[in-house]
Amino acid sequence: MSDAADDTGRADRATGGSSDAPATDGQANSPATVYLVGSGPGDPELLTGKARRLIEEADVVLHDKLPGPEIIESIPPAKREDVGKRAGGERTSQEYTNERLVELARDGQTVVRLKGGDPFVFGRGGEEAERLAAAGVPFEVVPGVTSPIAAPGVAGIPVTHRDHASSVSFVTGHEDPDKAESAVDWEALAATGGTIVVLMGVGKLPEYTAALREAGMDPETPVALVERGTWQDTRVATGTLDSIVAVRDSAEIEPPAVTVIGEVAATRAEVLEALRGRGDASATADRTDDTAGAGEADDEVTSAEGTDDEPDRGGEGS
Ligand code: SAH
Repeated sequence: MSDAADDTGRADRATGGSSDAPATDGQANSPATVYLVGSGPGDPELLTGKARRLIEEADVVLHDKLPGPEIIESIPPAKREDVGKRAGGERTSQEYTNERLVELARDGQTVVRLKGGDPFVFGRGGEEAERLAAAGVPFEVVPGVTSPIAAPGVAGIPVTHRDHASSVSFVTGHEDPDKAESAVDWEALAATGGTIVVLMGVGKLPEYTAALREAGMDPETPVALVERGTWQDTRVATGTLDSIVAVRDSAEIEPPAVTVIGEVAATRAEVLEALRGRGDASATADRTDDTAGAGEADDEVTSAEGTDDEPDRGGEGS
């Protein structure tokens, strides 16, 4: 394989792009490269080839819970460092993670910072990149398959559709919509007529669905919750802007999950039907246990407690 040559080239490029990086050629203590890598939404086959290679080559992989158990367990325990939650249940601070990245790189260790989905979508990857740049540590960003597209996708929900939605917005649900200076303008979002995908939005579902209704959105607007999209135990629950809180409660939907709001959420049934009709009931459909109607929520969702997800429910992201 030509991996070595390729890797050298990339590392040089990353170093060159970082103006603060020590220019002292070949000096023993110039920092190693940090790779900010997206793991995709959880299915190990959705980890990119590049991510897999970098994980194999890394000295240390810093991760939280969001990449999911299948991917995390595939990394040799000797090089894994969990910066999601410590044994006692305390969250590791973002400041600690930032400093740890710098410290390891200065120690000459090649680091993969593995983050769920894409590292620059609600993952604080931007903050880590800023810290690395300030410290003169060379880094490279390795995009990943992001959950607000992938989780609805495997549930049979296209986030855009020529007939239903010509725009899509990704927003955080973690914010309190009543907060005076909320960064999310629910009223403006309601007016777009496009699809809204809310991340970190299980806990605050009642608040932002109310905010959208108050902003004039039709209470019958279809809504879907996709829990652990692409994981082996993925589940989907569907309802409307009016009913989705009750659906969430009876199905016991837990983080990590995305909320898909808009007409596209109703295309799910048709899409799955068509897939099956073609004799093409792929792993995708099979992996998706539809809890619509919420009565058949017999899957346990117990391990969600260990999921780095919503800050208010014990997780990461911002
Ligand atoms: N960087 C990530 C997002 C991090 S914020 C990405 O690009 O996907 C954490 C939120 O991502 C969770 O609260 C949840 O809303 C969403 N999420 C991540 N993985 C998910 C999955 N497999 N299924 C559903 N939602 C997921």
